Amino acid sequence: MEETLPRLEGLLLPSITDVSVLSLDVSHEAIRIEACSTAAGAACPDCGSESSRVHSSYLRFPADVPSGGRQVLLHLRVRRFFCPQPSCERLTFAEQMSGLTRRHSRWTERLRSTLAAVGLALVGRAGARMAEAFGVSISRSAVLRLLDALPEPEVPAPRVVGVDEYATRTGRVYGTVLVDVETRRPVDLLPDRQASSLAAWLAKRPGIEVVCRDRALFFAEGASAGAPQAVQVADRWHLWNNLGEAADRAVAHHRQCLRVLVPDREEKAEEPMPPEENANFPWRSDRFANRIRARHATVHALLEAGHSRRSIGRQLHMTHRTVKSVADAAKPEDLFHGQWQHNRTSVLDEYKPYLDKR
Ligand SMILES: [Zn+2]
Repeated sequence: MEETLPRLEGLLLPSITDVSVLSLDVSHEAIRIEACSTAAGAACPDCGSESSRVHSSYLRFPADVPSGGRQVLLHLRVRRFFCPQPSCERLTFAEQMSGLTRRHSRWTERLRSTLAAVGLALVGRAGARMAEAFGVSISRSAVLRLLDALPEPEVPAPRVVGVDEYATRTGRVYGTVLVDVETRRPVDLLPDRQASSLAAWLAKRPGIEVVCRDRALFFAEGASAGAPQAVQVADRWHLWNNLGEAADRAVAHHRQCLRVLVPDREEKAEEPMPPEENANFPWRSDRFANRIRARHATVHALLEAGHSRRSIGRQLHMTHRTVKSVADAAKPEDLFHGQWQHNRTSVLDEYKPYLDKR
């Protein structure tokens, strides 16, 4: 058995140098590995001085990645060294086994990177649950702290950058999001939407050739100041969005013209529409308009006779909101308009499914 032990390091702790496995115990549930460092000394974490003067030693039990369904229990014999540097404030320090341990960590490095990968894919709660499934107990906030501690990934400076705003706290706080348009990945978030912040960000990346932005003034100013070399273009989404809004406004503005055209066609329909449906399309039927006028007259007559709004609602089977809107309208025509605004319907409604599809 003794002769096979030297090969265990490569099997159990691959790619870790200066380590010696002292014993191995495999039971039904767990694999127990006792190991120690074989390095001559270690460097002080404060001053960097190498030391080989051993002060003491103790055991560490970092959690490791399970193997073959068994828990791996590491028993690491770790030495504490004297710092040789008299000016150093640290008198003694514990050695770290490169690739295996780090200060104050209860995990081996390979378990740490496994948990970080799980956290990147699933984040806190689901990440903790996944870790549980392979036998590692970790809280969701510990998963998040692990992600927080990861180094920022290196993002190459984009050539074409998209600038837009984003909102947090349900639209109360606005920031700026920057997207690499070629890779379609967000590259940075700025905490505000100031021209100066955008300009500063762009100025640090002189390789930017194109800035895609909407027409907001602060983005225009920021782009001109920070990337004078870049061409500024409106992105496709904002062009379509602006066109859509302009078309909506234009059609709404001319709805009187449409109202003249539509009733003729609708008159042919003998069956009157149910009132709720009709209420959404008041221009469709003169009969509906007449009913509104009659209702307006009734409500106002009752009001003048001293009836309360509540009582009118009960008598005419109208909701409180309807009574209020009829009572507040000086003349029936205001009501058409009011209802229109109230329900936020527009002459586009009938065509919206088609427009959405386009
Ligand atoms: Zn030191």
